[in-house]
Amino acid sequence: MKPIMVALAIAAFVSPAAAQPLPGGFVFLRDIDPTIIQDIRYAGSNNFVGRPLGGYEAAECVVKRDVGLALKTVQQELAAQKLSLKMLDCYRPARAVADMVAWAQNGKETAAERRYNPAFSKADLFRLGYIARHSGHSTGIAIDLTLVDLTADHSPPFDASKAYADCTAPANARTPEGSVDMGTGYDCSDVKAHTAARSVTPAQRRWRNLLVAAMARQGFVNYAKEWWHFSLPGAAGPAYDFPISARHSHDAGFIRDPRGVQPVAAAGRRRSVRA
Ligand SMILES: [Zn+2]
Repeated sequence: MKPIMVALAIAAFVSPAAAQPLPGGFVFLRDIDPTIIQDIRYAGSNNFVGRPLGGYEAAECVVKRDVGLALKTVQQELAAQKLSLKMLDCYRPARAVADMVAWAQNGKETAAERRYNPAFSKADLFRLGYIARHSGHSTGIAIDLTLVDLTADHSPPFDASKAYADCTAPANARTPEGSVDMGTGYDCSDVKAHTAARSVTPAQRRWRNLLVAAMARQGFVNYAKEWWHFSLPGAAGPAYDFPISARHSHDAGFIRDPRGVQPVAAAGRRRSVRA
């Protein structure tokens, strides 16, 4: 058989598996609800590391199917208020968590990195447990997200060359995120990012309360130290390390990196910022 015929034969054989192309009951959120806005920050340079993290080969939100279905219900409820969810991080391969740990220990810190932890140095960030060796994100039940007001002007795009103010500064001075003003930027390691922080304005408080309430109605639990971090405890399972690749590469049930298809060691119960 010619190579092209072999390829076609294989494609025909595996196509029934295309409905479940990702390991462990994971799905692309875009396949469940394409109306949910996605800005997967660790797939680009607009994050505290300043570059894509290992395993983020595509800017796609991947979650456990139950998490995706619950998010779709939240999104439908928010649509009546002309609001949308905006995903900032979803499934995080274990290798990306290891990448964060190595970054935290590399002994260097730039001004752009410092914007995410203005009250203490990067070395302290690790020592104080702000970055953990295991993350609930690797199990596919933890997500980072914010709200977009669909009737409002969107803020200007992120410009890597610009010297923005730190993540606790007013919204018009800190890194733009194209979302409502929650009082701090995403991934801000600061007491002001604690969901119940008293230092936020009444308007910022209302946005945080609205997000927590909408998520809680579908079973999501907020992490008290990060207004953006939620998890769906009922869907818990093991951690994984498969890379996030483009949706089309999965169309024929193709998994680019077979190392990740089996669960990795237990994710641990430790919770921390960037958990
Ligand atoms: Zn998180």
